[in-house]
Amino acid sequence: MAAALAAAAGLAAIFAVHARAVSNAPTPPPHAARVNPTALVPQPIWEVEQRSGSTVYSNGLEIRNEFETTSRPRSYHTFSRVRLERSAEAFSAPAGIVFHTTESLLLPIDPAETRDLMRTREDLIRHVRTGMLYNFIIDRFGQAFRIVPEDEVAFHAGHSIWSDRDRVYNGLNESFIGVAFETQTGEALEAAQIRSGRLLVDYLRGRYAIEEANCVTHAQVSVNPENMRIGFHTDWAASFPFEQFGLHPGYSAAVSSVALFGFSYDSEFLAAIGGQPWPGLIAAEESIRREASDRGEDAGAYRRELRENYRLVRSITSGVDADRKIREMQ
Ligand SMILES: [Zn+2]
Repeated sequence: MAAALAAAAGLAAIFAVHARAVSNAPTPPPHAARVNPTALVPQPIWEVEQRSGSTVYSNGLEIRNEFETTSRPRSYHTFSRVRLERSAEAFSAPAGIVFHTTESLLLPIDPAETRDLMRTREDLIRHVRTGMLYNFIIDRFGQAFRIVPEDEVAFHAGHSIWSDRDRVYNGLNESFIGVAFETQTGEALEAAQIRSGRLLVDYLRGRYAIEEANCVTHAQVSVNPENMRIGFHTDWAASFPFEQFGLHPGYSAAVSSVALFGFSYDSEFLAAIGGQPWPGLIAAEESIRREASDRGEDAGAYRRELRENYRLVRSITSGVDADRKIREMQ
């Protein structure tokens, strides 16, 4: 019952957000449909053609497959957000997307550089393929490469945690798809990368029913369990163009590692995100203070309890991982 109420409250919150977004939109011209493009659920998108080395989809997305390799199937449990109970079921479908930068060598986009651009791209893809580092890479020309199939694990997220309105995901390699853009922190994406990135995001969200709330950047989900700070990896700590991928501004989402598990951040992280905490970081800190006050507890003591919850979730997850490894060896 509590879960149903929480879900209903979550839905109400979503509708409220959408309603606000619509009411803030510029007044449309007469007869134009009043549509907020970021609120649209992607239409069905399906595979229409297999070519040698690539697959073409109904929205115009073309995924090149010639560097595809194989890892192992996804298998993960989630935790309920309210009581942190582990799901009885092990899931195998991806639940979200983590966006990355490759931080690799960037040459000028110039016809005279074409040969070297192709060479650096191929070096990068071979490196990523060897380590099975991402499910997808989008190169400087906007070509999308599938490296690890989306129903298999790529090793892109390290220690990482996120939650949607119902469930907590720990260790996002298992549960989220890794999409890397060939770029470096501080560089703007090429227009071609934004175009094909949008097609890929729409396809993945439609195919796997991925909620907008679970489309996040590596900096938003990366944690360091040793010092209980967030942002061990800081790619896309700022300037990820969420709206151009049909997503609400993601930096507004309350940071799960802080709000639910009491992680904190340091001045180095603050510098990486541009000196000002994301609205989602402020919201997460505020929720700790509010919850502590509602319980009549000191915020510091409450944060320590949250950190114990993280240790619990982490130890359960490692137990499950160890069991899986034993099964795989048998
Ligand atoms: Zn990353």
